[in-house]
Formats: sequence, C-alpha cells, structure tokens
Amino acid sequence: MRTFFTADTVDPDTRRRFRRAGILLVLAAVLPLVASVLFSWTDARQHERRDAELAAHVVRNQVATILAQGQRVANELVPLTNAPCEDVAADLRRRRDAEPYFRSLLLVEPGRVYCSSVLGSANVPLSHFVEFPTGLPQAPWVRIVSGTPLRPQSPALLIGRPGVDGRSVVAVVDGQYLLDLLGAITPLTAYQIELRVGDGITLRSGVAPSASDDALLLFDEETGAAPAQIDVEIIGTQGRLNHAWAQRLVHLLPFAVLLAGVLVWLSYRSLRSGRSAREQLLRAIDAGEFHVEYQPVYGVASGRCEGVEALLRWDRAGGRTVSPELFIPQAEASRVIVPLTRHLLALVARDSREWFVEPGFHVAVNVASEHLSSEHLQGDMHAFIEQLAGQQLQVVLEVTEHSLIANAQQAHANLTALRARGVRVSIDDFGTGYCSLSYLQSLPFDLLKIDRAFVQTIDPAGHGDAPVLDTVIGLAHRLGAELIAEGVETPAQFDYLRERGVSFVQGFLYARPMRADAFARWYAAGEQHALFTEGAGATGA
Ligand code: C2E
Ligand code: CA
Ligand code: CA
Repeated sequence: MRTFFTADTVDPDTRRRFRRAGILLVLAAVLPLVASVLFSWTDARQHERRDAELAAHVVRNQVATILAQGQRVANELVPLTNAPCEDVAADLRRRRDAEPYFRSLLLVEPGRVYCSSVLGSANVPLSHFVEFPTGLPQAPWVRIVSGTPLRPQSPALLIGRPGVDGRSVVAVVDGQYLLDLLGAITPLTAYQIELRVGDGITLRSGVAPSASDDALLLFDEETGAAPAQIDVEIIGTQGRLNHAWAQRLVHLLPFAVLLAGVLVWLSYRSLRSGRSAREQLLRAIDAGEFHVEYQPVYGVASGRCEGVEALLRWDRAGGRTVSPELFIPQAEASRVIVPLTRHLLALVARDSREWFVEPGFHVAVNVASEHLSSEHLQGDMHAFIEQLAGQQLQVVLEVTEHSLIANAQQAHANLTALRARGVRVSIDDFGTGYCSLSYLQSLPFDLLKIDRAFVQTIDPAGHGDAPVLDTVIGLAHRLGAELIAEGVETPAQFDYLRERGVSFVQGFLYARPMRADAFARWYAAGEQHALFTEGAGATGA
C-alpha cells in the first residue's frame, strides 16, 4: 500500500517538519531567557534613572529655596546703597546674623567693596570676590565662585543686585550649604552630582567615575530662568548599572529557566502528538486498517440506485472503529490527507472491480481542501479514472465551498481540467458555506449536495414548510444545478424534496453505507430498493 505514498511526496515534507520542530524547540528554550535579560536590563536602567531623578529634584528644590532667600535679602538691601557705610553697617550685620545661609553681605561700588557685614567700612578690591571683564553688571546676577577672601578654599554663591549711583549689593551665600546638600543626597558609592547656579563654577559631590568605568549621564535638568537658572546633573557609571542589572537577572533567571523548561516540554509534547497522529495514520495505511463503505444514491427520475458515495472507515487493531469525523480532520491537520485519499482511490478501484453496475454509474469521492488545491490532484484522478475504465464508472468529486475558496486559482484550474475529462463536480454540504450567488456562479461544478442539516428542518410528519431549505433549493435552481439531498431519513422528507425537483437522494431511508461486497449483493437484489411513499404512491419503477 506504500505505493500511494511515495518518497518524493514525504521526504521534503518530513525535512521541513523537522526543521520547523527544531526552530520551535529552540525558540521555546531561548525566548524566556532573552526576555528575562531584556526585562532586567530595562528595569535596572529605569530604576537607576528614577533614583537619579528623585535625587535631582531634592537638590533642585533645596537650592531654589536658598536662592530665593538670597535674592529676597539682596533686593531688600538695595536701598542701603543710598547711604554711607557708617549709617548702614549695623543694619547690614544684623541682617546677616538674622538670616540663615549667608557668609557675608556686601555693598559694592565700581572696583571695590566699601561696606561689609563682617568688617563694616572696608576697601577691598572687588576682584578678590569676583571678576567681571566689563565691570559690575547693571542687572541682577548670580554666580558660584571657588572662594572668598575670608574663606578662600570654600566656594560661595554670590547674588548681585544693582543699587543707586553705580553701586551694587552682593549677598554671599556660604557654598558649604550647597556642598552639604549634595553630600547628603549622594551616598558615597552612588553617583556624582553636579550643580551649577547662574554662571561660574560647577559644584560636585560624590565619586567621580574612574577612567575604566564609563560615565553615564542618568539625569540632566535645567530649571529657572537666567541669570538664576539651576542645572543639576546626575552621573552614574556603566559598572553600577551593570551591577544592578546582574542583581535583577540573578533573581529572574531561575524563573526564566523554569519557564523555558515548561515551554520546551509543552512544545515537545504538542510536536510529538502531531507527529504521532501522522505516524499512526501512515502506519494504519500500511497495515491495511482502512476500508471503504459505499452509500447508495437514489435517482428520483429513474427510481434506481444511480451511484454511491465512498466513505472511509478506520478499524483499529483491537476492533475499535474510529469515526471519519475524527480522523479526517486529524489527517488534514497532520497533512496526511493527500496520501490517505490516494489510498482511498486505490481501495475504491479494487472494490469496484467486483461490481456489476450500469455504465455511467456514479462513484463519488470526497476531496479535501489541501488536495483540491494541490498540483497532484489531476494526476491522482487521471490514474483513478484509468483504473475504473473497464467498469465505465462516472467519477464524482465532492468538494466543499470552503475548500474552493482556499487557493481558488489552483482549485479552479484542477476542477476545470478534470471536468473536461468527464469528471463531475459536486459541491458538498451546500448551504453551510457563505458563498454569494455571484461567486457560486463562477465555480466549475455540476451538482449541489444539500447538507443534512437543511433536510432535518423538514417536519417528519410532512406538515408545514422548511423556509431555509426552500431558499437553498431556490438558489440551486437559479444556478441551474442538479440537486442531491443527503441525510434523508423519512418518507416525508423524501416527498418534500422530490416535489421540489431534487434529482438524487441519499440517506438512511434508502440505504446505509455498506462494505463493497454487501453493496454488490444489495445492488444485485435490485427492484425492492425502489422508494415508495404514502403521499405520492410509487416514486420509482
Ligand atoms: P459527508 O461527506 O457529508 O458524508 C455524509 C455523512 O453522512 C456520512 O458520515 C454518512 O454516513 C452520513 N449519513 C448518510 N446518510 C445519513 C442519514 O440519513 N442520517 C445521518 N444522520 N447520517 C447520514 P460519515 O461516513 O461518518 O462521514 C462523515 C464525514 O467524514 C463526511 O461527511 C466527510 O466529510 C468525511 N469523510 C468521510 N470519508 C471521507 C473521505 O474519504 N475523504 C474525505 N476527505 N472526507 C471523508
Ligand atoms: Ca460527501
Ligand atoms: Ca455532507
């Protein structure tokens, strides 16, 4: 039987299946691992950035508070530039003592400090504090300097305001407040923070990234408007990020490995069951476990059996029979349907040699979608027709609307060519598909086979109409097709269908599917198979 299942139809397919199975297993194993690596990486990065952003916001808010305080005090001192230092020195000292953050408060005229909250009247070159190439600005200014004459090693934040007659106010905020703030925010091992306020130098805190450890800008934000803008930068290191990543990965990896294992196992099982379905079917073909039953088809006009539908049966070892409703879909899914149909054709060719039927007797075979749209169909059917030639049997292909839509081009070409060779085409399960009238008109077919479900809508006692069935029959007549009804079980159903011009009837009322030899005996017994019904009297000869 293996002859219907040649090496050249299976081997490339098997190879393809093995390749696909391999890819599936590798994906099942690798995907969870890749996902955990990616997830832990993005999570670590997000976490680092969130931490940095939080730190930056704390710094920015604190600095903004100190700056606002300095600006307020500087503004309040502007009127003091209107009086000599002796008159305002005490006031200056009191303000410095009363307000937090200030190292000193200065009154300045071009080139020199003339009054200070620390010294009272003074004459210190302004350049000891701060230098402007074009002289003191006549607009508010803010600058961080690296030191002041009193504490040259300690940075300070200077806030300047123009006063009267070219004089100015300079409030000197102790930079230690800012450094302490930065120091409190950055744990020693964490990032480096850089702070710029106005123009001037940058304050830094934390550990600077070493040369071997790539610096990584985690956060950079500039707020406020010139001249008092605040710029906070948080710099981490690639090493620290990698460390956070590795920590997450260590926690995630066991789950990923577990998931990969489960996925591999599930994929393997599903592949195995798919393969074993295929192997079982192929083995059953080899072992000769399939046989064909033939269900007679009744010609309404002639009143005789005018054909049979070939229906596959699977008798498994141990006497268990598997329903075609079960194994045909399995054969389709595991892509054994083509070899299985070839096997069926061989069985039908063998069985029918023993029959003594009229020339032109129909033998209908069901053809699945994959076969219908394959380039092998014509060759397979030609071989079949040749084997039946001695018997002058008429081959009928039963195809569904659905299978005609899948790969329509090849299916149409196949059917057109086969009809030219005398094969008749029957649309099976007609009415259950969703083809429009115009689409149906374009299909190459000869017969429409009304689905059992519609026949069942006929009242068993013969009362009332079956409107949906009527619509299906009306549609078939409009297409000019001959009609065959399947699943006819009662005389009432038969009468109903006959009255509406159905040409052929198939169903338990007339005959059940039977083995080839049983059919030959049944057929030979002849006349008693004519269908007689109550309402119409004799319907057959
Ligand atoms: P189908 O092509 O619609 O076949 C008709 C089914 O209706 C057959 O079931 C037949 O036994 C059943 N039947 C016939 N008369 C009556 C009746 O009066 N009442 C009831 N209730 N049922 C009736 P079966 O043999 O179990 O086949 C089921 C399906 O399996 C078929 O439906 C067909 O789609 C598929 N099948 C069977 N053999 C083959 C085959 O060789 N190739 C392919 N591709 N499919 C097949
Ligand atoms: Ca059928
Ligand atoms: Ca059917």
